[in-house]
Amino acid sequence: MARYTGSVCRLCRREGMKLFLKGDKCYSSKCPFEKRPYAPGQHGRDRMKMTHYAKQLRSKQAMKRTYGIFEKQFRKYFDKAMRAKGVTGTVLVQLVESRLDNTVYRLGFALSRSHARQLVTHGHVLVNGRRVNIPSYLLRPGDTIKLGEKVRSNTDVKEAIETASSRNAFPWLDVNYDEFEGTFVRLPEREEVDLTIDVQDIVELYSK
Ligand code: SF4
Repeated sequence: MARYTGSVCRLCRREGMKLFLKGDKCYSSKCPFEKRPYAPGQHGRDRMKMTHYAKQLRSKQAMKRTYGIFEKQFRKYFDKAMRAKGVTGTVLVQLVESRLDNTVYRLGFALSRSHARQLVTHGHVLVNGRRVNIPSYLLRPGDTIKLGEKVRSNTDVKEAIETASSRNAFPWLDVNYDEFEGTFVRLPEREEVDLTIDVQDIVELYSK
């Protein structure tokens, strides 16, 4: 399956919520969803009653799109969450939050998750001192993440760090911008993750 190459802002409009896929623009008045908060296309403004199934499907699509994960891999995360101890929805969120690309973004080293994915695939990220170029690599509590020296002077990386250093760090992460280093301290609690998606919808959809 090919990667989606269209406008990512259309995805936000399709899901009816901001998915924060474009870095700074998402927080500015230039965000297209702020101006046109309805689905794209000719009938985007039409009010349609959503069935329960459609709501569940939209929740799943929104979560996949937020984290940039394809169906097959997302389903694997769900199956893993089902087998694990604990609340399935919470474990699912913890799994996707443990991804290396997501953590590079959460640490503030990248403008967006797609930028983070690019940094990882291009070999600019070290985990516990070793280069890891797999965006879906799942971190464990205590793992350290460091940016390679070559990319530290990159304009986008500098911009990302400047923005991130002015906001509160995520409680499950520890970051040191002087050293371009962070630690995945622990798994996040569900309520600590700023996700407006109803994860229970996804659990119900896949459990049918
Ligand atoms: Fe979504 Fe960000 Fe585009 Fe706004 S700017 S529509 S939040 S991707």
